[in-house]
Amino acid sequence: MALLQLQGLTARYGKIQALSDVTLEVRAGEIVTLIGANGAGKSTTLRAITRMITATTGSLVFDGQPLDRLRVAEVTTRGVIHVPEGRRVFARMSVLENLELGAYLRHDKVAVARDIEAQMERFPILGQRRHQPAGTLSGGEQQMLAMARALMGRPRLLLLDEPSMGLAPLIVRQIMQTIVAINREGLPVLLVEQNARQALAIAHRGYVLEHGKVGLSGTGAELLASEDVRQAYLGAHADG
Ligand code: ATP
Repeated sequence: MALLQLQGLTARYGKIQALSDVTLEVRAGEIVTLIGANGAGKSTTLRAITRMITATTGSLVFDGQPLDRLRVAEVTTRGVIHVPEGRRVFARMSVLENLELGAYLRHDKVAVARDIEAQMERFPILGQRRHQPAGTLSGGEQQMLAMARALMGRPRLLLLDEPSMGLAPLIVRQIMQTIVAINREGLPVLLVEQNARQALAIAHRGYVLEHGKVGLSGTGAELLASEDVRQAYLGAHADG
């Protein structure tokens, strides 16, 4: 059974139809990627899941329970945690304070302290910079902080919106490896990416969004090999 199931989701911003009839699912243990051009509706899909916008039709079920009527904070409480586009760390707060904020719904102080140390082991740079304002970190470090902060909420499903945006290729590879490592620990991930090649390379399955609709879907390997995907999303020199 799917952990997250979107069925026939439609969403609009005023007159702009951002999603039409989007059906997709994330199963336990999977990395699922959502790729597509600018404006295809990828971020809107994540916003609809976390209820930052309200879908006009369709259904949204997480772990057998509807999310459709919940508030944003209630979706978080259920364990669906969203790292938005542009990371949005609290720039003036320290790395440590950002991590503490990620645990704001938790009351298990000892375990929170232990988890902070675990995140600093996972991302040693965050440990080294624990007292530095988050705004002084590089883009890649801020992305790591945003992911670590999300993990502090003990997610059951992690939604990542363009974690590779604006980062150098070496850092992108590190971020992708981190996503794989987090997933291997058992956490399902729904990954929105412009960087289709890298996202498909680590994903179990993927969906291609085109003008708010799901076009192709398949395993990461199938989509990487698809001529349509190669031409549209992997650039002219799509040699793998
Ligand atoms: P990008 O990579 O540019 O973020 P995307 O695939 O995530 O692209 P969305 O941001 O979901 O696409 O946008 C889907 C459509 O909704 C686009 O036509 C976009 O212009 C429109 N849109 C997105 N956010 C808003 C908003 N806040 N108000 C009005 N229209 C919006």
